[in-house]
Amino acid sequence: MARVGRWIRRVLDRPGSVDLAPYQRVVAEAAALEDEVRGRDDLRPATVDPAWVGTADFCAVVREAARRALGQRPFDVQLTGVLAMLDGHVVQMATGEGKTLVGAMTAAGYALRGSRVHAVSVNDYLARRDAEWMGPLYDLLGLTAGWVAEGSAAGERREAYAKDVTYAAVSELGFDVLRDRVCVDPADLVTPPPRVALVDEADSVLVDEARVPLVLAGAADPGTAQPEMAALVRRLSRGYHYTIDEEGRNVFLTPKGTDTVEKALGIDLYEHPGVVTQVNLALHAQALLTRDVDYIVRDGRVHLVNASRGRVAMLQRWPDGLQAAVEAKERLPASETGEILDSLTIQSLIRRYPRICGMTGTALAVADQLREFYDLKVAVIPPNRPCVRVDEPDRIYPTAEAKEQALLDEIETRHATGRPVLVGTLDVAESERLDEALRGRGLRPVVLNAKNDAEEAAIIARAGERGALTVSTQMAGRGTDIRLGGGDPEQEAEVAALGGLYVIGTGRHESSRLDDQLRGRAGRQGDPGGSVFLVSGEDHLLTAYAPDDALPPADPDGVVRDGRAGILVAHAQRVAEGVNLEIHRNTWRYTRVLEKQRAEILERRDRVLHGDAGAEALRIACPDRYRELEETAGEETVSRAARQIVLFHIDRCWTEHLGFLSDLREGIHLRALGRLNPLDEFNREAVPAYRAMLDEIERRSKETFEKADLSRDLAEQGLRRPTATWTYLVQDNPFGSEWDRVLKRVAGMLKRGRR
Ligand code: ADP
Repeated sequence: MARVGRWIRRVLDRPGSVDLAPYQRVVAEAAALEDEVRGRDDLRPATVDPAWVGTADFCAVVREAARRALGQRPFDVQLTGVLAMLDGHVVQMATGEGKTLVGAMTAAGYALRGSRVHAVSVNDYLARRDAEWMGPLYDLLGLTAGWVAEGSAAGERREAYAKDVTYAAVSELGFDVLRDRVCVDPADLVTPPPRVALVDEADSVLVDEARVPLVLAGAADPGTAQPEMAALVRRLSRGYHYTIDEEGRNVFLTPKGTDTVEKALGIDLYEHPGVVTQVNLALHAQALLTRDVDYIVRDGRVHLVNASRGRVAMLQRWPDGLQAAVEAKERLPASETGEILDSLTIQSLIRRYPRICGMTGTALAVADQLREFYDLKVAVIPPNRPCVRVDEPDRIYPTAEAKEQALLDEIETRHATGRPVLVGTLDVAESERLDEALRGRGLRPVVLNAKNDAEEAAIIARAGERGALTVSTQMAGRGTDIRLGGGDPEQEAEVAALGGLYVIGTGRHESSRLDDQLRGRAGRQGDPGGSVFLVSGEDHLLTAYAPDDALPPADPDGVVRDGRAGILVAHAQRVAEGVNLEIHRNTWRYTRVLEKQRAEILERRDRVLHGDAGAEALRIACPDRYRELEETAGEETVSRAARQIVLFHIDRCWTEHLGFLSDLREGIHLRALGRLNPLDEFNREAVPAYRAMLDEIERRSKETFEKADLSRDLAEQGLRRPTATWTYLVQDNPFGSEWDRVLKRVAGMLKRGRR
């Protein structure tokens, strides 16, 4: 019987999900050891045996350590999650199941096996909070933990990375790797070799943000604003001068629009491709990027909003041209730009680690991507107490107006019962509109969005109180723990009796995971709760991804109940998810070559930085000069100078190579017109360009070495490095591969021009 049950379960499980039975057996054995372990004085293992980690004894020991250090006895399901992560899987565990503790016990396990762990958080706040919160647990096991934040100095970073477990935001980790990438003295290096990455909010980091490049740029220059272009496109109107494609990722000038632009500028666009790019960037900024949806303006600056988290994306900007175009649109001065010295996508950053594991509330829906891009499997951990949240089917309305009415009525009715209500909106602008409409009805909602993120903790702390009415963007969708009654036990029972937290989504997201994250705010740890989404036929999701399908007609009360409507909504969401996956795949195809080249050049660079490879190369390339310098300046000085010279040219040539590849990538789609496969074309040029770069490094190194005066500072002899560097993330998300589209547009225009 039992065997059949397991067989059926395996068939029904989504492919790629891990069988938990072996872990559950170990956890069951651990229960028998609990009393004995409780009697031990010292929980530190006497000898370090990597095979011990993952055993029942290990489980009993970390459980006891957590109990002593934090006053929390880990549940069986938490230990199951630990074992799955120690096997290198991504675990799916719902909100409130205690993933922070699971992550810490896992990190401790890896550290006890002798591997340094980087616990990758989504922001500085969480990195520090988790490191400090879990510190006593590591202490008891004889381990050390540290954290890195944006403000940490180089020395503090080095110290934090020297710990057994280091908590850091993914961006800080990446910036440290990039800065190390241009280090000329081994003593200045900050990051140790990558061993284990333990990724929190794994779907968000590994899938949604995988393509985001982290950038290291040299000394900042003021950017160039294009206020005339912004003013010009501001006068154009949609439908007449330009059209937008259904997915809202592309904007096209109509022939009429082209005429208007040409008249206004007094030029023939066909003869000025550079101007075409400027016009397109301005048009993108004007027509496709919406204030209070894609970005907010605060303190005279444009701040990008992270679509999946609904909060300001710190340190993020769009590619330079688009960034300046948005600033011009908002009549702000252009922010600074600089030469890109090196860049690294989050996916490449994480793939450097030989061992990756992670945790999130929503992993199963991206199981295929996790396998395709990282070779990871998903382990679905059951909740500690069964989830009793009632998820109602979507309520579907023909028009946005009908939905809005129903939404306001629903909020008012639910709120009147005293039950806490959390309304999740799709963007900042919507949260503000809704706030106003609710106030019009005499209600007093509390709004949480990217504009008031400083008050986040206080707002969330009260969102589960009796009568609370919270309107929030996706900010309240991830990692926020809403307690019924706001932590007051008496009120908790009262709120539970009312039905617990009720979540209302004002529309389905482009990703089902975001819907699930929002729903997951209710019903944590077996709490009662409920959720519902309201959808209209005019929602962006449907108009963009199912434009040709009409909703079935509504019942007399205005609600569409025909079963086909729900199928249509699910279909539109799957199309949206498919589009995003295709964009991810496409970017990865292009970055793969670059990553291989980077890995290879870094290996060469390391041999120069840590060894004598630079001196050896120059001794062979310029034997006479080498001997001559050795006699005049001494062996030590020549060897040091050789290292400095070769490192300089490696870095300089790599920067130039990156610039070449990015131009190549931008222009490659023009060749698709000649029916060449753009990716093949890209690879065909990238590979010889890399070889040419290696030759160039050698040529320039020799040239410098022949001429250099070793008694003077080499920096003054053409080896000057940028005096300052700065780091940021590039957000190219709104249109996928932005440049493909801009260039497709240029190509389309040129074709039209010829006709
Ligand atoms: P998640 O990230 O999975 O939503 P958290 O790590 O934020 O959950 O934990 C949610 C809450 O549950 C925290 O207040 C934490 O202290 C508590 N918690 C976690 N594990 C246990 C446990 N074994 N016993 C009691 N409380 C726990």
